[in-house]
Amino acid sequence: MTSPPSSVLIVGSMALDSVRTPAGEVKDALGGSADYSGVAASFFAPVRLVGVVGDDFPRAHLDFLASRHIDITGVQIVPGGKTFRWAGYYDFDLNIAHTLDTQLNVFADFAPTLPEGAKQSPYVFLANIDPELQMQVLTQMETPKLVVMDTMNFWIDGKPDALRDVLKHVDIAFMNDAEARQLTGKLSVVKAAKALQALGPKTVIIKKGEHGALLFHKDEHFAAPSYPLEDIADPTGAGDSFAGGFIGYVAACDDVSLSTLRKAVVYGSVMASYNVEDFSLNRLRTLTKDDIAARYRAFKQIAYFEALDEAAA
Ligand code: AMP
Repeated sequence: MTSPPSSVLIVGSMALDSVRTPAGEVKDALGGSADYSGVAASFFAPVRLVGVVGDDFPRAHLDFLASRHIDITGVQIVPGGKTFRWAGYYDFDLNIAHTLDTQLNVFADFAPTLPEGAKQSPYVFLANIDPELQMQVLTQMETPKLVVMDTMNFWIDGKPDALRDVLKHVDIAFMNDAEARQLTGKLSVVKAAKALQALGPKTVIIKKGEHGALLFHKDEHFAAPSYPLEDIADPTGAGDSFAGGFIGYVAACDDVSLSTLRKAVVYGSVMASYNVEDFSLNRLRTLTKDDIAARYRAFKQIAYFEALDEAAA
């Protein structure tokens, strides 16, 4: 079996999350970087997931992924194994996730093996996961058109050298502003983005939570605003759904020009803004393509401004 054109291969965590926010809490809810990004990307392009769960992972979650036409043949289910678990909370600053507990469980011994067709996937998203696993996936790929990666403080602290190795081999890196500063030691986000570009990726996207996202592409910049939501239930998965929307849109266009990347940043922002409206992946379950189009238009309106009034300048 070969890969469908413009398909996206995603490797990342598949999790059961326990999360508390000022709006409420959930226990052992569907989460994980691969699940959020895979579902977000599935609104745009065919998706294959590679990951691992234990046999405590509810069948209903796998059925939900399959209902989004996500190919889950690359998901290993370990008999007697326990699924990766993350527990965290957010205070009133919803940009800061406080981790209470990370249990790698089945991820501790996971060695991803790509199914035959997956190796030819043109678009690859190495979602937040152990950078050594990201590298193992990358070395199995044949000739991907675009490789995108994400990470988090847990791996910047724990495996910085492995992470730098992955950065050497990717086209686009996502990081939030705090992570970019932490990895590069630069206080300025602009300097941090440039330092990341010097490590390998020619494009760097800095996510600034409720303050939008910045794209650094070679010497060019683009800034996307965030959507002014009145109520945020749970910021978990905002970064992953952003990345999923981004790579899904790029894959659907099968084009990596700057103009497509700028639109992809807006689609990523649209997906993240919907995702945070409810806990876990719940908002993505009911989301429609019309909803996505409506919010894309709203973003365009928010970011619009007139050209310089030469007479007044
Ligand atoms: P974010 O998009 O950054 O909010 O990512 C949230 C997701 O990251 C949660 O659903 C967690 O299950 C997952 N996660 C948390 N810690 C880790 C980790 N160390 N490695 C991989 N995934 C993680």
